[in-house]
Amino acid sequence: MKYCNLKNALIIASSVFSAANAGGFFPKKTVKYYEKPAQSSAAVSSAVATPLNITQISLDALKRDYPNMEFKIGNVLRNDEAKTAYVHVSQAVNGYEIINSAANINIDIPSRSIISSGIAVWEDVEPFNPADHGLEDLNLDVEDALAKVAEYFNYPYDKDETEFTEKNGIYTIDGVKFTIDKKARAEKKYITISEKYVDSVWELSLEVGQIWYLARVSSTTGGLLNVENIASHAVYNAIPWNKVDITGGRMLFVDPYDKNASPLGWHKTDEKTTSNDTSGNNIIVQENHQGSEIDMVTNRAYGGADLIFDYPLDLNSKKVESYFGAAATNVFVLTNKLHDVYYKFGFNEQFGNFQVNNFGKGGAGNDPVKVLIQDRSGTNNANFATPVDGYSPKMRLYPFTSKSPERDSSFVNQIIIHEYSHGVTQRLTGGPDKTSCLSSDESNALSEGWSDFFAIAMELTKSSKRSDAHNMFEWLYGTYARSKPICSDMTINNLTYSSLTYNANGQLECHEGGEVWVNALNEVLWNFIELRGVSEDVSKGNINSKSEGNVLAIQLVIDAVKIQPCNPSFLEARDALVLAQKQRFNDSKLHCAIWKGFAKRGMGVNAQPPEETGSKIVYTDNFDLPSECK
Ligand SMILES: [Zn+2]
Repeated sequence: MKYCNLKNALIIASSVFSAANAGGFFPKKTVKYYEKPAQSSAAVSSAVATPLNITQISLDALKRDYPNMEFKIGNVLRNDEAKTAYVHVSQAVNGYEIINSAANINIDIPSRSIISSGIAVWEDVEPFNPADHGLEDLNLDVEDALAKVAEYFNYPYDKDETEFTEKNGIYTIDGVKFTIDKKARAEKKYITISEKYVDSVWELSLEVGQIWYLARVSSTTGGLLNVENIASHAVYNAIPWNKVDITGGRMLFVDPYDKNASPLGWHKTDEKTTSNDTSGNNIIVQENHQGSEIDMVTNRAYGGADLIFDYPLDLNSKKVESYFGAAATNVFVLTNKLHDVYYKFGFNEQFGNFQVNNFGKGGAGNDPVKVLIQDRSGTNNANFATPVDGYSPKMRLYPFTSKSPERDSSFVNQIIIHEYSHGVTQRLTGGPDKTSCLSSDESNALSEGWSDFFAIAMELTKSSKRSDAHNMFEWLYGTYARSKPICSDMTINNLTYSSLTYNANGQLECHEGGEVWVNALNEVLWNFIELRGVSEDVSKGNINSKSEGNVLAIQLVIDAVKIQPCNPSFLEARDALVLAQKQRFNDSKLHCAIWKGFAKRGMGVNAQPPEETGSKIVYTDNFDLPSECK
């Protein structure tokens, strides 16, 4: 569903749309300084202005300028030495504060006159009514709202175990499993979601591990509208890492890094150095709007001191540049996540992964991946270049001008997984200090196949089926990125070993060759899934022989890439996978699942390397299984 009419309804996910980050989304402020009035001695001696009077003076002043507006008094403070009273006021709706509004009025105590004010309020806003937008009003109570937060952040929560008490509009919830003190505090407020609407929210104050934040959940739609860090932790508005592309919308993520893979998080390169933009130990994301061919420092998205990367996104904009912040944030989150996921599967410091600081764990440092997004040096494509360990690889993501309005590959996680994976297989084949071990015709094709395979295996869901047809990068290319969808159904995709052909230049086209390879791996993947089921998020859980099919497939392909020779052929890469399984699990079912997958696609146990017949190079299918699998 889309809420194009709401200026700041930024998230297109079905139930979630976002208020912009709390720090940056305030109305225009009107500041006034008044001449301090002359003070008569009589006035000074009768300076007994009570907080009530001060409050009334402030409200009267506000009512003069904004007669139809409702206000709620916050703090009333006074300092008699400074002869000043300080009144803090919020705009209100139905008696509840609008979070992103503020007025402060300073009063000279002796004369009771206003000396200055700063007013940031919303004129002409009205409460958001879900029914006007075809939505149901969920009318969440405070415990429902907490359940929503638990759901968004994947925390364990059981409503039956909680109990709430209310005092002066502040709710305390006891029995909350996931907070440090087993409590949550909540208050009903309003937040502006566009220049026209305010939405009612439950503001929950939660201390979870080292994170202490305010989460604002819409009581009408259930959407997580806004998260504010009280402690300094990073918040990102990004596509869930394992979703194919932007079509399912974005969500807010708080500190999504893996402690084992990124011990200092994603912004620190050592204890003393923190970035507050889209750069850190694993990744540097910046724009290349000038289309420069040479390396230069350009803009990155900025998260401020609180590291809040919550940027607006309007995909209807003519030019991708207009939503650079949102694009950089998504790429930063996903590529860091891939760093952490591949770490778990064994692409770590020793094996040449991409980090500034290797924390003394081996390998060469100083090689975070540099990602140039919205790169105007090209169009309608993406690529990844990998030098030896110790030198930064470079990923380039070009705008897709073949679409109107143009589309940004920064919002297609599938293509970013594909590109990043090129770097992984490149560093792992032949060791991290070799760059030319995937340069033969067949190994180049293998590289394309692995990259598609990893993207598919990481993006499966519980409802994925063997017969699913994967149109790679569909949001960018339509159905034309590959010659056929990747699919286990031979009527949809009949590519086999014998489909490998050399073109007129005597070259095996790497993407066409890659299609043969990924379809074979897809068979193995589904044979595994039929044995062990599917994981919707392969970054979670430990890996062992009981893991889900896609987890096992990713692990064994990584293991195989590590043991295969430099410039492997298709059959050598297949044999490496068989061997990797024996090394790690030595499970007869998995063993035969691998052989059945390859045999189906013409790379059975008796398949041979290609033969040169005259001027032609010919691959011949073989569908034989080893005797133990018959
Ligand atoms: Zn590729």
